[in-house]
Amino acid sequence: APFQVVDVHELLDSTLVMFGGKLADVQVVKDYDRTLPRISAYAGELNQVWTNVIDNALGAMSGSGTLTVRTFRQDRHLVVEIGDTGPGIPAEVKNRIFEPFFTTKPVGQGTGLGLEISWRIVVNKHHGHIRVESVPGDTRFQVLLPLEATGQ
Ligand code: ADP
Ligand code: MG
Repeated sequence: APFQVVDVHELLDSTLVMFGGKLADVQVVKDYDRTLPRISAYAGELNQVWTNVIDNALGAMSGSGTLTVRTFRQDRHLVVEIGDTGPGIPAEVKNRIFEPFFTTKPVGQGTGLGLEISWRIVVNKHHGHIRVESVPGDTRFQVLLPLEATGQ
């Protein structure tokens, strides 16, 4: 299937709407750079990435906290940053989060596939990057997407 021309803000908003009542206990802060252009991408697959990362963020905050969804430009990339105020990701865990089937969740609660799938969507299919910065109380997943069409 070919890339579509998408507005990441519309995708992010539709993903947030899909979470519905699961967002009731957290504060959601949106900080969008509306001057960012549309990009060429697979809409459905990017929605899967936001869903996976937001699901992890909500799970990490278990109850209360702040979910931040921010967009900005960095060089030739559009960056989507999803932040949470949960406990953070210890270094030895952080090294493994993109491995298939790696999970720290109880049996039956996590497949360990969300971030591996997200990595393949962002890096392999969109030629972007995913970065994570995490200290207790401030975890940020950054998805970088090329602003120019990659021709794929
Ligand atoms: P799953 O959610 O099924 O465990 P993922 O691939 O989505 O699998 O995530 C892998 C692991 O990464 C999680 O089990 C958790 O240990 C860690 N992780 C991901 N996001 C966060 C986050 N926002 N805060 C703390 N840990 C996280
Ligand atoms: Mg997950």
